[in-house]
Amino acid sequence: MSITLVPAPETDTTAAAVDLSIVIPVYNEEESLPKLYDALREVLDGMDESWEIILVDDGSQDGSYAIAQALHARDDRVRVIRFRRNFGQTAGFAAGFDHARGEVIITMDADLQNDPADIPMLLCTMREGDYDVVSGWRVNRQDGFIMRKIPSRIANWLISRVTKVYLHDYGCSLKAYRREVVKNINLYGELHRFVPALASWMGVRIKEVPVNHHARRYGQSKYGISRTTRVLLDLTTVSFLLNYAAKPMQIFGKWGLITAFIGVAMGVYLTALKLFTGASLSQRPLLWLAVLLIIVGVQFISLGLLGELVVRTYYETQNKPIYVIREVLGE
Ligand code: UDP
Ligand code: MG
Repeated sequence: MSITLVPAPETDTTAAAVDLSIVIPVYNEEESLPKLYDALREVLDGMDESWEIILVDDGSQDGSYAIAQALHARDDRVRVIRFRRNFGQTAGFAAGFDHARGEVIITMDADLQNDPADIPMLLCTMREGDYDVVSGWRVNRQDGFIMRKIPSRIANWLISRVTKVYLHDYGCSLKAYRREVVKNINLYGELHRFVPALASWMGVRIKEVPVNHHARRYGQSKYGISRTTRVLLDLTTVSFLLNYAAKPMQIFGKWGLITAFIGVAMGVYLTALKLFTGASLSQRPLLWLAVLLIIVGVQFISLGLLGELVVRTYYETQNKPIYVIREVLGE
């Protein structure tokens, strides 16, 4: 199984040391970084909160790390994590989440496409509405129409329908999370965009708010159209984990029974034909279909059983609960 869907509350006993952590994965963004820091600092210092910025250098080959280092030397509220190589944006977020000391964790891009000026609004929305996740929605997205916006529209519609967490913009990096949300989710692959959907399993309150978006001024986008298939595959994983992670037999068993039943019914029909009319079965494609369906059905059911074993190993070896408690009265 590829994600810890089930939070283990005992893993997050560390108390928050600051109010806000801004987590920013950085991959070859040397021109943007100084300006990003200036803009962030202006906004953050204007708020009545203690804060830290976590720059995760994802194996940049340009001067990004040197700049991050200089920013840290100048202001120790800037913390820097440097990867040994390029592990990808999801890994960047994951490292940032692991090291974040804030009560609220805000994620954003390093390329100045997200606007630091939106941060107070995100925070205000979270606190006033008692939300656990506040997700940005790039209403005026400044990216290519055909290669970026159209695939993104379709993807958001599909992700919303499948996960039943209805957001217009899963891909927007500018999001705010309460500490317990990100501390209890482990990310793999390219799952960072699915954090709201994964968190929904925990029973979180999610709100989407419109945010600014600017065209990229420096450097280049790190992604192309190939992201679409990866998102689709990840969606399959997420949907399985959300619905069946703790009960694989329910999905595999259901389809196994359906296919095996149809196969058996066909077999019975063919046997009856043979017995009562003496018809020859050797020329009947239906016979092959019956055999195929029965075999597939049995395999599905076996897969379900194996899945059940894996689930038990997964939860019991790590003492993971299959539930999340909000509070207990009278302990
Ligand atoms: N990024 C990263 N590692 C990667 C690719 C991207 O840390 O392997 C960072 C990148 O520096 C930026 C953010 O992820 O801060 C979003 O990347 P990009 O702007 O290329 O994506 P787009 O906005 O075009 O979707
Ligand atoms: Mg960008």
